[in-house]
Amino acid sequence: MWDLFKEFVRLFRDFQEIWLIFLTVFVIYLVVLNARRGRRHSTDSEVGDLIWVDEGRHVKPFFHNGFKVVGKPDAMYNKNGLITAIEYKSRRGPVFESDWVQAFTAALAARGSGFKVRQVVVKTKSEQKAFDLPKEDLALFNIVRPFVERVRSIQNGGYGEASPSKPKCRACAYRLECRDRAI
Ligand code: SF4
Repeated sequence: MWDLFKEFVRLFRDFQEIWLIFLTVFVIYLVVLNARRGRRHSTDSEVGDLIWVDEGRHVKPFFHNGFKVVGKPDAMYNKNGLITAIEYKSRRGPVFESDWVQAFTAALAARGSGFKVRQVVVKTKSEQKAFDLPKEDLALFNIVRPFVERVRSIQNGGYGEASPSKPKCRACAYRLECRDRAI
């Protein structure tokens, strides 16, 4: 054991500069990581206190009985009674229509479980957009209705229509197989 320790000290002494470079890079990495977390947390804290968070796949999505929609936001915050649902996207780039449609649908589903979501925020790594939602569930459903009906039709064997665009296709998981892709 003592020999091992001595060997370690010798290695450290021989490669001191390399250890120091490694340590400096590691510390810079931690500082950047921390700053990013802090930025994300400070933006989220503007929308209030965290009241619900999606902890993973084992968490069942919400279901709205009246409109038969399912979904779950990534997190929900409450600020003086105003509930905001957040949808995080792991990519850089703009917020697409499909992003806010998904977030609105998840907000409607959460309303079915008693979370009266009135605002949605969609965040990619480079952009963030906030949307005020209508108070009435029916009005909210009417916004997402065309998209929900399209999905239901596809689930029942119908065909969807591709709407390619370069930024969207670039971030799409199906682009290699898709014949309609724009890139
Ligand atoms: S690659 Fe195809 S499926 Fe993906 S966004 Fe583009 S058109 Fe739509």
